[in-house]
This record gives sequence, C-alpha cells and structure tokens, in this order.
Amino acid sequence: MAIAKVIFDLSLDKDFDYSIPPHLEGKVRVGSRVRVSFRTSERSGFVVALKPRSEFADVKPILALESEREQIPDHLVWLAEWMADYYCCPKEHAVRTLLPAVVRSGEMKHKQALFVMLTMKGNVQDGTEFEALTAKRKEVLKYLRDSGPRPLTELLSAGLCTAQMVSKLCEDGWVEKELRVVERDPFMDDMIVPDRPKELTQEQSSVLKSINEAQDAGAGDVILLHGVTASGKTEVYLQAIAHCLELKKEAIVLVPEISLTPQTCERFRRRFGNLVSVLHSGLSDGERFDEWTRINEGRSRIAIGARSALFAPFRNLGLIVVDEEHEGSYKQDESPRYNARDMAVVRGKHEHATVLLGSATPSLESYYNCGIGKYRLLQLPNRVEVRPLPEVELIDMAQEASMTGKAQIFSRRLKELIQDRINQQQQTILFLNRRGFATQLMCSKCGYVAMCENCSIAYTYHKKEGMLKCHLCGEEKPAPTTCPNCGDPEIRFSGFGTEKIESITQALFPKAHIARMDADTMTTKDCYRRILDQFRAGRFDILIGTQMIAKGLDFPNVTLVGVIQADIGLHVPDFRSGERTFQLITQVAGRAGRGDIPGNVIVQTYTPYHNALQCAIKHDYKGFYDEELPSRQLLDFPPCAHIVIFHFKSKEESLASESAEQFLKEAKPFLEEKTQVIGPMPAPLARVQTFYRFQILFRGGNIWRLVRNLRQLALSPRWPKGVYVFADVDPRNLC
Ligand code: ADP
Ligand code: ZN
Repeated sequence: MAIAKVIFDLSLDKDFDYSIPPHLEGKVRVGSRVRVSFRTSERSGFVVALKPRSEFADVKPILALESEREQIPDHLVWLAEWMADYYCCPKEHAVRTLLPAVVRSGEMKHKQALFVMLTMKGNVQDGTEFEALTAKRKEVLKYLRDSGPRPLTELLSAGLCTAQMVSKLCEDGWVEKELRVVERDPFMDDMIVPDRPKELTQEQSSVLKSINEAQDAGAGDVILLHGVTASGKTEVYLQAIAHCLELKKEAIVLVPEISLTPQTCERFRRRFGNLVSVLHSGLSDGERFDEWTRINEGRSRIAIGARSALFAPFRNLGLIVVDEEHEGSYKQDESPRYNARDMAVVRGKHEHATVLLGSATPSLESYYNCGIGKYRLLQLPNRVEVRPLPEVELIDMAQEASMTGKAQIFSRRLKELIQDRINQQQQTILFLNRRGFATQLMCSKCGYVAMCENCSIAYTYHKKEGMLKCHLCGEEKPAPTTCPNCGDPEIRFSGFGTEKIESITQALFPKAHIARMDADTMTTKDCYRRILDQFRAGRFDILIGTQMIAKGLDFPNVTLVGVIQADIGLHVPDFRSGERTFQLITQVAGRAGRGDIPGNVIVQTYTPYHNALQCAIKHDYKGFYDEELPSRQLLDFPPCAHIVIFHFKSKEESLASESAEQFLKEAKPFLEEKTQVIGPMPAPLARVQTFYRFQILFRGGNIWRLVRNLRQLALSPRWPKGVYVFADVDPRNLC
C-alpha cells in the first residue's frame, strides 16, 4: 500500500503519513488536496510526497480526494521545500505561499450564470408558428441564432427583451435556460487597444537574439539585461515572450508593485490579449480564484504580478522575466521571507526555464553574479529615441547654511524653480529620501553624520538612551550633545519627515495645492492609484513623498523633481545605503523629461562629492559598481558573502534576550571559523508594538551549512511561550 505525506495549514513544521486506499490509487498525486482525519477532527491537507511505506505502524487512510486535478504541480512542491530549507521557515508557510488564500480554503466555487439558448424548435426559424411571433420575439430568436447561448442578464441589460418574454419563449419551447460556469473578468470594463510588435533597434535585436537562443537551448540560463531607462527593455520582454509562446511554453512576468505599474501590465495585455492573467492585490477573491484556475487549467499562458506570481502553477514554463530586479519589494517581510528574484532563478534552473532579470540599476548581487559567470550580462546602453538624459544639479546644503547662517530645508535654487513651475502651471515632485524608521544622528547645519569607524556605516541613534550603536559590529558610545564638526547644539533634534516638509512647503507657497504620499497617508490599497491619478489630472501642483513615488513617476507635466535631502538615504545604518541612493537618483533622473519639456532635477545634499551621487548624475552604473564592490569585499558584505539575521522577540525583554543568548550558545558548535557573529544585541528598532526585539547577525562562510544547522534550532519548540524566533536570510534591511 502506498503512503502519502500530507501537510496542513497549521504552524507545524511537519508532514504526516496517510495511506492511499485502493480506490484512490493513481489518483492521489503530489499536490493533491485530500481530506483526512487529524487528531479528533477532519481536515484538508496537501500531499507533498508519495512513498512506498511508512515507518509508523498505525497509519490512517486518506478519506477522500478533494480535487480531481492536482492543485500544485509537483515541481512547485519541490520549490516550496527548497524555500523552507533556505529561508529557514516552516514547510507549511512555504506551501501556503503557493496558493492564494481563496484557493487554499477550497470554499470558492466557480461562478454560475443563467444562460438562454435556442431549442431545436427555436433553431428552425421559419414556418407559420414562427412567423406568427411578435417582431420583438423574432428578434430575440435571431439574435440567439447569431450569437449562440448568452447570459440572461446580458440580454436584459442590452434591452433586447424582458424576463417575462424569455419565460414565455421558454414555455412555448423556443428557448431553454441552463446554469453554466462563467468567469469573472476583472478587465470587463476596460477597453484594450491591441498593438503589434515594434521594429527593434539594432541593439534590441541583438539582445533578443541572445535571449531567444537561451530559450531554444532550454537550459535554465539566467540573463541580466542592464538597460538605461527608456532603452526599450519592455519591448524586448514582449518579443521574448512571443518566442516563448511559439515554443509552446508559458511565461511569468514579475513586476515590483503592481498598483504602481498599471501601464506595464496594460502593454502585455495589448500584445497578448486574454492569454494574460494579471494577479494583483486589487482583485476580488472570486476574480483571483478564476485567474488562478485559468492558469492551473492551462487557459492562460502568461502570468503577470508581484512576487507571488512566481508561483503561478504552469506546467511547461519557458521564461521568467523579473522587471526592476533590484527592487527591495521582491523580498517578502513576513514568513516565508523569500526574495522572488532569487526564487525565480531557482525555479528557472529546476524547470529549465530562461530567467531574464531587467533593470537600469541592477542590484550589486546580480551584477556580481555576471562577473563570476553565474549569469550572463546583456546591455542596452542607449535610449530608444535619442532623447537626452535630463541634467541633474547637486546643491551643496552646507554652503547654503553657511551663507544664510542657519540650516535650510529648501535651497534658494529649489525655491525659485518651484515658484517658477507654479507660475507656469507645471508640476513638481519632491522626494524625501528617507526609508522606514531608520534613524541616524545628523547635523542639519553642516551635514555631519556619526559613523562607525569599523564598518563605515552610520550609527543608529537610540534616542531614549542617548546612545549611538553600530549594529554590524556592536560598538556603542554616548551620542554627542553638540555637533563634533561645527559645534551646533541642535544636533539631536534635527530629524524631519514628510509631514514636516509638507507644512513648510505650504507655508512657503500658500497658494499651491499639495499632496503627500508616504506610508502614513497610504493606508489603503487604492490610495496610491487615486492620488497618482489625481496628480496626473493636474489637481495638485506639488507631490511630496518618499521613494515609493519614484516608481509611479511618469507624468509628462512634471518638469521639476527635487530631492530634499539625499544624505538621509545615504547614511542610513545599512551597507546598501549608497546603492539605494544611487538607484533612486538614477531612477528619478531617468524619469524626468519623458515628455517634450526637458525638465530639471535638483538634488540637495551635504556631500556633493559622494560617489553614489556623482555616478548617479552621470548615469554611470559601472563607475558606481567598481567603486562600491571593493569595500563590500573587504568587509565581507553581500554580494561577496551572505548575511543571516536571527530575530528574537517577546513582550518580556529578558525572555527575548535570554533566548538569544541561549540560541548562540547552542549554535556555536555548528559555526564555521569563517562565520562572523554579531550579537546578540537589541535590534536597531529595539521595541516595536510592545515587543522587545533582539538579534544575532551571522555573515560569511557557507550559507547552506549555516542555515541547515540553525534552522532546526530556530524552529524547534524549545523556546519559552511568548518568544518568537525567526530567521531572515539575505535580509534587505538590517533593522
Ligand atoms: P524601458 O522598459 O527600458 O523603460 P520601454 O520598452 O518602455 O523601455 O521603451 C521606452 C519607449 O520606447 C516606449 O514608449 C516604447 O513603446 C518605445 N519603444 C521601445 N522599443 C521601440 C522600438 N524598437 N521602436 C520604437 N519605439 C520603441
Ligand atoms: Zn561598526
């Protein structure tokens, strides 16, 4: 008798053996949803593996098969197990991400509608009985003959007939009614104008040729497409997908944040029509269920969506495109903490699908992987229509401060230009390059930032204790009360956020209409779209926001972009701060001037000669990379080494810190000599929502050996009640 390993939607990192009864043999497969008895009740679970026998004596039988077609292709079960191992999370968290909640619950059914269709009698539209019908009724029958069965609601809303009329036709045997499955179409109300492949430029053609050769070979190659903004990357994706379809294979397209990239999705639908399924957070449960089912049943061939679209249940995958591969949003910040870009590479290898990573500012990880031969680099160094890249002015804020005698938020140049745009009824976007709650100590008069000498990253300023801490090496010291550089006594109080910028801007330009967009104001999913739509329609003069608005930045009437304080992003306590700033400024600069008016970009900074800024204004990615990599190498940071952070949180401070100590004690025997350990120490955000947080950071050495050994420890049930232990492998943020 064969055995199935089944997992449940519970937080147990375990699978359970059940026997397959004779009548289900051959039908129960990996990925099947089955009904079984579990402890004292019945439950649904997923089969993750089959095996000939069990080591347990009393194995219960599977009670029923809940779906005919397996809901998870078996290579996705493999992918989930890989994910659970690598990202150190419970298996069922990983399996859970494979299926949308609505599919997992098994409660959603297909939507049905009442269809009206002709009977045999209704099909023969002549004879005296037919001729005797009213003109209106004849019209309905003729319509149905031309159109085939139609939903009743459609006939009614088209004004073709009334419900009574249909009932009468039914009674007299002309038509019949039948319940049929219909699909909810999330795009029902959209008009789609089909488009055709563009004739490629020479650069594009040669890139496409290489991509298609990789697809023909079907070896799961990874290609990094580094193309400047508006170099025609998306057109290349589209034509690569066309080739994928010719090979009778399927394609997945990942985009960072779908609500901010509606234009991208639309381009795919214009090219490929309803072969495309778009999976985004705005879908209703029913729509999501239908889209997922369309993919699972092979009726759509292209899936587009944010990171979870990677798990589209295709069986014959040929191509995965990851657009803007450098984006941090590909990393999920709850369990499983996977990076969809990296998982795309894993899935591609396993299923022999070509993986195409695209960006104007590739992550150092991907570029590095090209250097060591893991990925292949293709480039589009020029814009399609040779529009000049806009000019960026760096404004030295220390100089502004010394000229006016005090720290300024707006330089004179920026104020002048904003006023000018208001007068001309053109629009302005102001960025505050500030990420999350990361804090550093910075003098707003001279730009001094307290930096750790060991790690060359900014100290985290712990306001409450008045301490500076480096959470990469553990160094700590009291925060100065006056600026060590210029003596300014305000140093501890200089932070400001988007809200403050908004009120200052409003005071400077009382007549301007201003909108603000940041994590505080964007509380619902729809908010982004709404504000961006209103901004596009010209309802605001100025849009203020954090980097989240950089992505939606494609507005022809925006002719001025200001980055208020580039340094805030430059000195966050994170070794990627330079990389992120480079990406942001490049992106901002590349977006402005898409319309016919060239536009200005103003970057205010205290460190105008910083490499990230200098390279960004010259659009010099290679220059930035060559300068940045050696320091990463020296300090054993990614991409040269992996980082894993273990987190410990509890409402009781002592429980969290003791668990961290205990963890390290038990972990020590498993660590390689090369692995550096930092901590345990309070997390940079020491307290979040009444939880105390501690962390231990590991870096260097063999990542697989490290996670294999520490996974069990983290997931074991030994930790006191109320203590949460989890790992963040390849973290995007260090706090
Ligand atoms: P990217 O994805 O690199 O930002 P896009 O693919 O969006 O670039 O291309 C930028 C613009 O150029 C788009 O409006 C696109 O339609 C147009 N475009 C792309 N390729 C071509 C081409 N070969 N001929 C003409 N226009 C093109
Ligand atoms: Zn340090």
